[in-house]
Amino acid sequence: MSTSISSRALPVLVAGGGIGGVAAALALARQGFAVKVLEQAPQLGEIGAGIQLGPNAFAAFDALGIGELARGRAVYTDEMVMHDALDERLVGRIPTGEAFRARFGNPYAVIHRADIHTSLLEGARAHGHIETLTGTRIEAVQQEGDTVTVRDQHGQIHVGQALIGADGVKSVVRQQYVGDAARVSGHVVYRAVVEKNDFPEDLRWNAASIWVGPNYHLVHYPLRGGEQYNVVVTFHSREQEEWGVREGSRQEVQSYYSDCCPRARQLIDLPKSWKRWATADREPIGQWSFGRATLLGDAAHPTLQYIAQGACMALEDAVTLGQALKRGGNDWPQALRLYERSRIARTARVVLSAREMGRIFHASGVERLVRNDLWKGRTPQRFYDAMEWLYGWKAETCLAED
Ligand SMILES: Cc1cc2nc3c(=O)[nH]c(=O)nc-3n(C[C@H](O)[C@H](O)[C@H](O)COP(=O)(O)OP(=O)(O)OC[C@H]3O[C@@H](n4cnc5c(N)ncnc54)[C@H](O)[C@@H]3O)c2cc1C
Repeated sequence: MSTSISSRALPVLVAGGGIGGVAAALALARQGFAVKVLEQAPQLGEIGAGIQLGPNAFAAFDALGIGELARGRAVYTDEMVMHDALDERLVGRIPTGEAFRARFGNPYAVIHRADIHTSLLEGARAHGHIETLTGTRIEAVQQEGDTVTVRDQHGQIHVGQALIGADGVKSVVRQQYVGDAARVSGHVVYRAVVEKNDFPEDLRWNAASIWVGPNYHLVHYPLRGGEQYNVVVTFHSREQEEWGVREGSRQEVQSYYSDCCPRARQLIDLPKSWKRWATADREPIGQWSFGRATLLGDAAHPTLQYIAQGACMALEDAVTLGQALKRGGNDWPQALRLYERSRIARTARVVLSAREMGRIFHASGVERLVRNDLWKGRTPQRFYDAMEWLYGWKAETCLAED
């Protein structure tokens, strides 16, 4: 795998066409690079599920030039609400209306994944020279001189001036350069998008809502103008889990929620597909960039979903990569070092905070009582102050100081 072509004429290769890969393609196109996205799936797209977006995601959308497009497809919630799933007690409520928007300069929203993906892809295609190759799984990477070469499953070679490994939680690029083990959580997730008429009337709240119970929780929120609802149920498995997706069953889910209050319990019968995701993250690492190759999104910092920030971080990564290239010109190794230096501590904090939040959600016994007292009487301002590090991210200040 070698080449002697002058690398400036080559595209930047992006491994993976998920939210991170497409956002990276857009950020690169905005800096004038031609981009080639290599995606293993037969078509580009996202799974049929919703996602929560903090104000930092909207700051990233604006920096990527698709703020209005994304805003038009989102649902703006009035609050985030946590209830105890055993006794229906309200544990915490954070208003996300006007005062929240004024504080962070952007809204809290929920959106269908496909709608973000489409917005990013439309932006990327409108902006530059983007080639997308589907059914293309990259298997090996090699760097020589100022080029990066990847080989796909058909033995085909793709040559670029750099490689962005946005190939998700089981990244081949990370495996090749880092080779670290995953940390399987033992937690299992079932998800569903439900039409409004099939969703319980007494849970049709305009809120990002969570019910927390001993070793489980349930999440629901509206999508697409309230015409659909997203449902996610999560529990600690009794089995020895392996990271990945496989068939599950309604009976399995029901067996974990026997002590759940009837109101929240309605949610566990809603999924129509009984696919189960066993989740994992990885220990944060101090290096993502290797010459002209780097990692982005879940490939760089796979995160448990408990603070709803994995995709938000991928969007921030993409913006930061674009800014680092703008400052670093065509010096890829230098620009990529600046990119990782700007991102590592922040994304590691998200990974570690998500683990801790999972523990708080799933508390039992006395720990549950402590959890239920944690936020008593807390004013919105105090919540907002605590969230500043996360939601206050701005593209203008995203690069690390020299
Ligand atoms: C239950 C759940 C709920 C979540 N909720 C939220 C939320 O509310 N808010 C939020 O911000 N985040 C949330 N997340 C996290 C979010 O989904 C991810 O962080 C985000 O999708 C990561 O995007 P990505 O592009 O980095 O990776 P992915 O979406 O995994 O995309 C990687 C892409 O690379 C492709 N690929 C993989 N290997 C190869 C290869 N070798 N060659 C070519 N292509 C390859 C894959 O097919 C895929 O298309 C949640 C996650 C889960 C599991």
